[in-house]
Amino acid sequence: MKLDTKAIRYLTAEDWRVLTAVEMGSKNHELVPTKLIGQLSGLRNSVHRNISNLAKVNLIAKIQNAKYDGYRLTYGGLDYLALNTHRKSTSIYSVGNQIGVGKESDIYVVASAEGIQRVLKIHRLGRISFRTVKANRDYLRNRTSGSWMYMSRLAALKEFAIMKALHENDFPVPVPVAQSRHTIVMSLINAFPLRQISSVPDPAGLYAELLALIVRLAGVGLIHGDYNEFNILIEERKTGVDGRTHSLPDIEEEQELDALGNAPMPEGGDEVKEPAESITLVPTIIDFPQMVSIDHPNAQYYFDRDVACIKRFFSRRFHFTSDDPGPFFAESIKVVQNRLDIAVEASGFSRKMAKELDAYMKEVGADGVEGEGRAEGEEEEDDSEPEEGLPVQPEVGTLPPTEDEDVLPSQGGPVTAANLRL
Ligand code: ADP
Ligand code: MG
Repeated sequence: MKLDTKAIRYLTAEDWRVLTAVEMGSKNHELVPTKLIGQLSGLRNSVHRNISNLAKVNLIAKIQNAKYDGYRLTYGGLDYLALNTHRKSTSIYSVGNQIGVGKESDIYVVASAEGIQRVLKIHRLGRISFRTVKANRDYLRNRTSGSWMYMSRLAALKEFAIMKALHENDFPVPVPVAQSRHTIVMSLINAFPLRQISSVPDPAGLYAELLALIVRLAGVGLIHGDYNEFNILIEERKTGVDGRTHSLPDIEEEQELDALGNAPMPEGGDEVKEPAESITLVPTIIDFPQMVSIDHPNAQYYFDRDVACIKRFFSRRFHFTSDDPGPFFAESIKVVQNRLDIAVEASGFSRKMAKELDAYMKEVGADGVEGEGRAEGEEEEDDSEPEEGLPVQPEVGTLPPTEDEDVLPSQGGPVTAANLRL
């Protein structure tokens, strides 16, 4: 679903009140009675004008053949409510390009009023899944139209709580900024998914680092559950002679290369010297709605699958296979300190919520165990090879295209976040 922010500026204070009233009413009503919308908004009879404004821009929708007159909130309406909250809290000032379309999310670059670029992730559970699941399963048979909204909200809540806990414990994850309804705002990582990287200087080093992260996560009670080349972003940093790290572009401008493209060796005799600079690949882990606790009944399965994903990718892409068979789940949880899975539960993402989301994920196959779908990482690699070499740092509007080109904004020049002020 495309995020169309055009109408947001034209909504009046009363329109917002009515939209909020429909959201409130949705908690108990699949179809919110028009009368109730009038009561909740405090606008009574004049509510019809606002209802028609909102319906015109598809923020609420009338349900045909209903037993009574009423409206339901659309994904667009929920998007607007979340954006309005982010706007008020100043975490978002403008919305820019869509940079990702996941199975169950849309990813946009956004900017704060100070021009700081961030990422808005909109969870859209139910977009694909409710169409593909078997209709005879219990909780879907009884589902109300609000269940996509509720599930998407749960996914955002969980992802934000986990990102926060991981960030506070110095795991390489984006900085969590804000969460509202089915959306989260986080820092923009200037890096590309591992999937788009065709070669690395030291596969063994990166491999060891990525597996060490799986073990470190288990050491705080967590398993990623979808640890694959799409959910690991790799930033290339060059470390200069001064030992400081530099981002790629400014080094490239300064550095003169010889005819073979090598950096000149530092002045001096024949003795072997440390190279003037070395490339460090810095991974960042993203995408946490499916993360599980090490106490989960299928914990070992998820752990092993995460490990196998990295092994398979390194073998196929970089032709690297480790002699070491591990890491193993049992060993990785021998010493568990500072249980973040429990901290997350305590932070408001309750066990009941976890169960509900878990049931949904199982149902739609997002967990790859019982469902019919499969996790991203289990996809066969396509034949097309990524472009040569490591990508340079992207800017807003020039981030790598996603695989689903259809839904991207037209390629007619970069759309900057500032173009689309809320
Ligand atoms: P999904 O759950 O739909 O897979 P992800 O969180 O994995 O969503 O995001 C999808 C894609 O969006 C990622 O593969 C990555 O390319 C991009 N992305 C997500 N978050 C960020 C971020 N904080 N910084 C940069 N790119 C991001
Ligand atoms: Mg992902």
